[in-house]
Amino acid sequence: MPTGNDRINAEGAGEGLRDLHTLTHGELTELLASLGQPKFRAKQVEEWVWSKNARSFDDMTNLPKSLREELAARLTLGGVEEVARQVSVDGCRKYLLRFPDGVSVECVGMPSRGKLAVCVSSQAGCPMGCSFCATGAAGLTRSLTSSEIYEQVMHVRDDFNTRVTSVVFMGQGEPFLNYDATLGALRRLNDPEGAGIGARHLTVSTCGVIPQIMRFANEPEQFTLAISLHSAVQRTRNALMPGVRKYSLVNLYNVMGEYVNKTGRRPTYEYALMGGVNDTDSELQALCDFCEGTLAHVNLIQLNEVEGSKLRPSTDLRAQDFVRALAAVGVEATVRNSRGVDIDAACGQLKQRLSK
Ligand code: SF4
Repeated sequence: MPTGNDRINAEGAGEGLRDLHTLTHGELTELLASLGQPKFRAKQVEEWVWSKNARSFDDMTNLPKSLREELAARLTLGGVEEVARQVSVDGCRKYLLRFPDGVSVECVGMPSRGKLAVCVSSQAGCPMGCSFCATGAAGLTRSLTSSEIYEQVMHVRDDFNTRVTSVVFMGQGEPFLNYDATLGALRRLNDPEGAGIGARHLTVSTCGVIPQIMRFANEPEQFTLAISLHSAVQRTRNALMPGVRKYSLVNLYNVMGEYVNKTGRRPTYEYALMGGVNDTDSELQALCDFCEGTLAHVNLIQLNEVEGSKLRPSTDLRAQDFVRALAAVGVEATVRNSRGVDIDAACGQLKQRLSK
């Protein structure tokens, strides 16, 4: 029967040392026991990894030096590397981070009035192919692990040197096509011994992968759900978001009713306004019909223009028409500032620019 230590050595021999972030609590405890360490060491090591985001075993100053050396001989601490950044005049910082296998993703830190929100990627690239998105144009490279998602938040936290108050899964990727890793990251972010962020301040944004919406509703934590709607007209939505063509708006409407009944929580509908595409009178009427009588909040966002795309933002006046019309049917809507408009803020743009 191999011990955890044997397995770690065996994996290390074949494909490099194993990343400590990928060890379960049981595996870490087993490894430390095999090194003759008392039980409380696992908690100490985990605090360095998940809460303090140690980048080197030498940082773990409350561990004996000999143990730090033994751990360093068997494990790595991941090694996410920042390869590029852009800083906006509004204070947003966008990062391109690379993992040890060479795969890179974007994340964004958005400071505002003493708070720090982080937008993370759940996949490198994305298979959904949304026509208004730079990431969608490039396709999927691979899904991220839960610790790779978590490490993005820690990287931003350490760069701003302040507590992260909320996280949105609105970067590259469709989180519900990487459900288990997304949930693992959410739980670690929520854990008081991890990032300690309240569940209601952790938001997953999905294009509407219907089977996973009810799965999410049944999770015990009060995580927040946002739906990228972008049109309540089936034909328009099919054209804008081909990846969710198989999930009709009728089915989405029904499952969101079930979600609200089950959780009692108000979902957000994201709606990127595109001039002449989804900001017409008939589109507005369809959006009002979709939301009327339901528990819903609508976020109206002016489209971030993507190089090479014909899609253009709508006007501020038109956005106000949407707010008024939605209010008239009892639905609250907010026009969101496009943060970081000067820094390729739409997901995938920084990566796209650097790969040219
Ligand atoms: S908008 Fe989101 S879901 Fe759509 S292609 Fe881009 S990253 Fe994927």
